[in-house]
Amino acid sequence: MAEDADVIVVGSGLAGLVAATEIADAGRRVIVVEQEGEQSLGGQAFWSLGGLFLVDTPEQRRLGIKDSYELALQDWMGSAGFDRDEDLWPKRWAEAYVAFAAGEKRGWLRAMGHRIFPVVGWAERGGYDAMSHGNSVPRFHVSWGTGPGVVEPFERRARDAQASGLLTFRFRHRVDALTVTNGAVDGITGSILEPDDIERGKSSSRKIIGDFSLRAQAVIVASGGIGGNHDMVRQNWPKRLGEAPKHMISGVPEHVDGRMIGITEAAGARLINRDRMWHYVEGIRNWNPIWPRHGIRILPGPSSMWFDAMGARLPSPLFPGSDTLGQLQYIMGTGYDYSWFVLTQSIIKKEFALSGSEQNPDLTGKSWRMTIKRATNKGAPGPVEAFKTHGADFVVRDNLADLVAGMNALSGDNLLKLDHLKGQIEARDREISNPYVKDTQVMNIHNARRYIGDRLIRSAKPHRILDPAHGPLIAVKLNIVTRKTLGGLETDLDSRVFGLDGQTIRGLYAAGEAAGFGGGGVHGYRSLEGTFLGGCLFSGRNAGRAAAKAVG
Ligand SMILES: Cc1cc2nc3c(=O)[nH]c(=O)nc-3n(C[C@H](O)[C@H](O)[C@H](O)COP(=O)(O)OP(=O)(O)OC[C@H]3O[C@@H](n4cnc5c(N)ncnc54)[C@H](O)[C@@H]3O)c2cc1C
Repeated sequence: MAEDADVIVVGSGLAGLVAATEIADAGRRVIVVEQEGEQSLGGQAFWSLGGLFLVDTPEQRRLGIKDSYELALQDWMGSAGFDRDEDLWPKRWAEAYVAFAAGEKRGWLRAMGHRIFPVVGWAERGGYDAMSHGNSVPRFHVSWGTGPGVVEPFERRARDAQASGLLTFRFRHRVDALTVTNGAVDGITGSILEPDDIERGKSSSRKIIGDFSLRAQAVIVASGGIGGNHDMVRQNWPKRLGEAPKHMISGVPEHVDGRMIGITEAAGARLINRDRMWHYVEGIRNWNPIWPRHGIRILPGPSSMWFDAMGARLPSPLFPGSDTLGQLQYIMGTGYDYSWFVLTQSIIKKEFALSGSEQNPDLTGKSWRMTIKRATNKGAPGPVEAFKTHGADFVVRDNLADLVAGMNALSGDNLLKLDHLKGQIEARDREISNPYVKDTQVMNIHNARRYIGDRLIRSAKPHRILDPAHGPLIAVKLNIVTRKTLGGLETDLDSRVFGLDGQTIRGLYAAGEAAGFGGGGVHGYRSLEGTFLGGCLFSGRNAGRAAAKAVG
C-alpha cells in the first residue's frame, strides 16, 4: 500500500513540533496528527512558564553563579535516585541530557531566535547533603516570552515546512490504534472529531464524524502525559506516597489524557516507571479557570511558613521551594490532602510567582517596562493580587486570631488552634533578629539573599510574620495540583521504543512526556525543574533526526 508520508508524528505539542521540524529539515515528508484544533498548536508548552534547565550559561556567570556539567550531573543523579533495573535507559538519557543542557541547548535555541530573561531562578533547592536532591545553584532560565516564546521558533519552522509541502497537519484527528505489519509499526487509524473553534485550553468536543487511516515508514508518539486524567493518576499512584489524594486540581488541560500511552502499549510497547509522577503541593484553584478543575502552582520564595492541616509546621528541610516530592510524601502522610502557607503582605509582594504563561503577562508579552516593576512595585504583581482578592483559597486578615478562624472556616475541618500556630510563629519570629540563627528556614532565607537574583526579585527582607507593619496576614490553602508524568515509553537514545521482549520495535519512536521525557523516565523520582520542556526539545530532536535517517 502507498505511504501517505515518510513519518507520522502523533501530537502537536512541543515534542511533536520539534520532531516534525527535524524530519522536514532532513527533506522527509511528515504528517502531524492532532486531536485538538489548530488553535491548540504547541500543547502544554504554550501554557508553560518557559523555564529551562541550563548549565554554565552566560546568564549564570553574569550573576556570579559557578556551574558545571559535573555539578549538574551530581545534582541530577542525587535527585533522580535511579534504583531499578528499568532505569538503565533513563540513566543513559540523564547523562546525555545534562550534557545537552551544559552544551548545545542554549546555542541551538538562540540560533532560532529564542532569548532568556536575565535573572536565573533557583528551584528545588534540596536541603539534605551534597549527593541528595536539589539544585546546588540557580539554573531555572525563564524564556523571554515564557511558553509561547519556546513554541514560537518551532511553530515558525513547521509553518515554513508546511509551505514547502514537506509537513502536513491533520487537526481534529484522534489516533485510536497503531497498525503493525510483520512486527513493524507502519501507520495509524483513528477518528475524525467534529470541528470545534473553542478557545485554546478549553475542553473540545469529542463527537466523531468519521474515521481515517494513514501509513508511513515510522510513527513518533509525542502525545504527552496523564495529568489531565485524574482516574489514571490515581491508578498509578505509588504506595510509597500513601493513599492517592481524594481532592486534586488540574495543572494541565484535559487533552493531557494519557489515552495514547495505552494505545501504544497495545501495539507491544513497554511502559516503565508508571508510578513516578511530578505533582505540586502548592496548587490554588484558579478563580478564572480555562480548563476543568484548573489549578495554578505557586512558585514560592523562601519565607512563607508552611503548616500541615493540623497546624504543625512542616519539618526541615521541607521549606517552600526545597523538595516537591518530599513535601508531597509528608502531606499525604498527614491523612489530609492539603496544607497551608502563612505569610505577610511583604512576603506575597516579593515572593509569590504563579506558574503559567497567562499568569505572567509581563514576561509573556516581552514587556521590559512591566517586568521591571517586579523589582520596584509597591504591591504584588497584578495576577497575584487578583488571586488574593478573588481566589477561593486565600484568607486575608489583620490579626492571627481572625486569620485562624478564617482558615478553619475555609477548610471546614476546624483542626487549627490559635495557640498552636501562634507559639510556632512567635518562636520563628524571635529568630529573625538573631544573626546566629538556629531555625533552618531562617538560615535558608539568609542564604537565598546572598544570591543577587533572589535578593532583587524573589525574597522579602527578613521580618517578623506578626509585625503589623508588614501586614495584613495571609493564609493560602494549598491543594495537590497534577502536572507531569515522569515514567513513560521506554526508549533508546534514538527514541526508538522497546517492546516487551527487550528489542526495539521497528518503525516506532516516542518523545516528550509520553516517553518520560526520554528513555521512559529521565528524571527518576524527582525533577530539578525546567527539565520538562528541555526533555521535549532533546527527545523530540533525537526522535526526529533518527526517524528521518531510518526512512532515508
Ligand atoms: C502551566 C504549565 C507550566 C509549565 N511550566 C513548565 C516550565 O516552566 N518548564 C518546564 O520544563 N516545563 C513546564 N511545564 C511542562 C511542559 O510544558 C510539558 O511537560 C511539555 O510541554 C509536554 O510536551 P509534550 O509535547 O510531550 O506533550 P503535550 O504538550 O501534552 O502535547 C501532546 C499533544 O498530543 C495530542 N494527543 C494526545 N493523544 C492524542 C491522540 N490519541 N491522537 C492525536 N493527538 C493526541 C494532545 O492533544 C496534545 O496536543 C509546564 C506545564 C504547564 C501546563
